Amino acid sequence: MIPSRFLPSRRDALLTAGLLLCLLAWSFTQYGLVHTAMALGRSQDSGILSGRLLLILAVSMIAMAGCIGLSSQWFSRHLRLYQQIFERSNDAIAVIGEDGRYTLQNQSHRDFLGFDDETFLGTLPAYRAGDTDLKTVETLRGIRQFSGEYRVGHASGELIDVGLSCFTISNELGEALYYIEFKRDIREHRKLAARIREERERFEALSRTDFLTGLCNRHALIEQIEREISRARRYGHPVAMLMFDIDHFKRINDTFGHNMGDTVICRVACLARSRLRESDFIGRWGGEEFLILLPETAEEAAAHLAEMLRSSIADPALHPDSEPHATCSFGVAVHRPGEELVAWIGRTDAALYAAKHHGRNRVEISRCNEENP
Ligand code: GH3
Ligand code: MG
Ligand code: MG
Repeated sequence: MIPSRFLPSRRDALLTAGLLLCLLAWSFTQYGLVHTAMALGRSQDSGILSGRLLLILAVSMIAMAGCIGLSSQWFSRHLRLYQQIFERSNDAIAVIGEDGRYTLQNQSHRDFLGFDDETFLGTLPAYRAGDTDLKTVETLRGIRQFSGEYRVGHASGELIDVGLSCFTISNELGEALYYIEFKRDIREHRKLAARIREERERFEALSRTDFLTGLCNRHALIEQIEREISRARRYGHPVAMLMFDIDHFKRINDTFGHNMGDTVICRVACLARSRLRESDFIGRWGGEEFLILLPETAEEAAAHLAEMLRSSIADPALHPDSEPHATCSFGVAVHRPGEELVAWIGRTDAALYAAKHHGRNRVEISRCNEENP
């Protein structure tokens, strides 16, 4: 497991072995010389040579003991270093052996998944992504490494989200010896991402909603009108626009106060919304003026709906006695082929203006086939 750059190099090992061999060869030569001297009866020479031999042997033994001592010290120091790195890593690390079963886990892994060594070691890994994507050590054998977001089992039985990276450690022949897993807790990250998403959606909705009535605001209305125009262009289906405005609203404000004015705006908005289909689109265009889009609706049907809305709003039976009576004037215009947004809105607004001009509390239509609005 220790990378080769931290191990003694092959050259160092060869040099040490060579030195020891030289010392041994020298010892054997000395031993031969002692033997010859003794055979020749030259006891003085043999005594000197024996002394020299003993000295060489002693030096060899000391050198060998020193080498062994130094290398074992070196190994244990590095082993401790790697053990510390493994145990103290903030990432949960687990090691899978050749048999595909867990053989080692660090403290972060124990803390993260809650398994002690007795329960965990010897078990088989399994990572889930969705219902079908199950990765096991077989996957690792095939692809040698992968990473991504998976679900793994916690000691409590719960499946928890982890950021996982797995890779293989091989020998010189490329045969897999170990599989290493790094797991990272991404639950907080997921929660944070979900909260950011929710907040963004909330702000987006707020940016499209009218604060007073809860209907769409002008910005959302314009986007929807653009969508309807392109749909009408593509499919050639009719789409109608209604604009309506509360009559003499200033008087309501002046007589009953601004708060009552707000209440009237909200009541009119609520009543109109309740009379529309799901597919219709209503928003507050501004002040006491509203705009409705009616997809798949031709002129007569749109005029009919506008009339129905007008009479409902004006019906005294349909609003509480505590609120002032209000009426609305309506302008209706069905989209003309090729007509741009501004022109269509302008035509509807002109019809509304005509309704005001002709006495209010009425519906005016800008006919689709008329030359001028
Ligand atoms: P017309 O029949 O011609 O539409 O007359 P009107 O009085 O309704 O029209 P005008 O444009 O003169 O007055 C609209 C008033 O609506 C003026 C403005 O102060 C008031 N207004 C606009 N927005 C709000 C709002 O959010 N709340 C309240 N209470 N009043 C508003
Ligand atoms: Mg008005
Ligand atoms: Mg107005």
